[in-house]
Amino acid sequence: MKPVIAIHAGAGNLLRENFTPGDAAQYRAGLARAVKAGFSALEAAGTALEAACAAVAELEDNPIFNAGRGSVFTHEGTHEMDACVMRGTDRAAGAVTGVSHIVHPVLAARAVMLEGRHVLLSGAGAEAFAREAGLEMTADPAYFDTERRRRELELALELERRTGPAAVLSEDDPCAAAAGPDRKFGTVGAVALDFNGHLAAATSTGGMTNKRCGRIGDSPIPGAGTFADDQTCAVSCTGHGEFFIRYQAAGDVAARMRYLGESLEEAASAVIGMLAGVGGRGGLVAVDRLGRVSFALNSPGMYRAMMSEDEGPLAAIFADEALTPVL
Ligand code: ASP
Repeated sequence: MKPVIAIHAGAGNLLRENFTPGDAAQYRAGLARAVKAGFSALEAAGTALEAACAAVAELEDNPIFNAGRGSVFTHEGTHEMDACVMRGTDRAAGAVTGVSHIVHPVLAARAVMLEGRHVLLSGAGAEAFAREAGLEMTADPAYFDTERRRRELELALELERRTGPAAVLSEDDPCAAAAGPDRKFGTVGAVALDFNGHLAAATSTGGMTNKRCGRIGDSPIPGAGTFADDQTCAVSCTGHGEFFIRYQAAGDVAARMRYLGESLEEAASAVIGMLAGVGGRGGLVAVDRLGRVSFALNSPGMYRAMMSEDEGPLAAIFADEALTPVL
């Protein structure tokens, strides 16, 4: 089997006019570093799970993406991060939610899965578990802060004062325009196929700017934001999590392949198209058991990249843009 890795680093209102060439190059370089980290793990005969975690951990370290360092702020100005991993061989899964001291939440999710007793750990319990597992922790959650995310929170709070809590930053709102290219969304995720034909998915996120404390998105929920099954595909989602939970987005891609006999591409576009119809903005990355990759999105853009034996790192940002090599 020819190994392959594909990643996303969030979908949203990513419009060309909001990116300087320097911005775009910085995002593309960050994506390339992450797929290379994942692909190196695959080449070293690592498992799909190791590869997906290596790519996601690299993205968590990069403050420009909304996961780990650079996570968005809650309404209260804190960080509550979620992460999940799932293994296609046996549908083993592990996840953590609402954590704010674990440097790599994705590695905590993997530790939960490998321990095998539970699937989903939250808050203080998840952090105690990560500490016992010997994972890197930070005493000060300010480690995850960035100026840009703080500005986004301030803008979201300002908008909320004007229009109420249900407000979503819209394109033509001056507040939104000042909020930078990402607006509210962001999340990072990876899917991989290894030499042995096994699939895995990993997703990690700071969630959505200005979320209520305690809110849990789709990312840490197997079947909603993350899914893997060797019989069909591995999927990692990004977007407005409430919709992805309600419509079981990641699991639905696999179910459509399994029960309707759809190809990965058909299933992924059907799910993302259906979400668009109900107001669920976002996208996903998926790989099937033959190594075919699909990026589906209903937002103006999604940071995305892939790498295989045949192709070096390829990346794209805008919806209408083909993947191109990152030099
Ligand atoms: N899906 C994530 C959440 O709802 C956010 C995102 O992907 O932008 O927490």
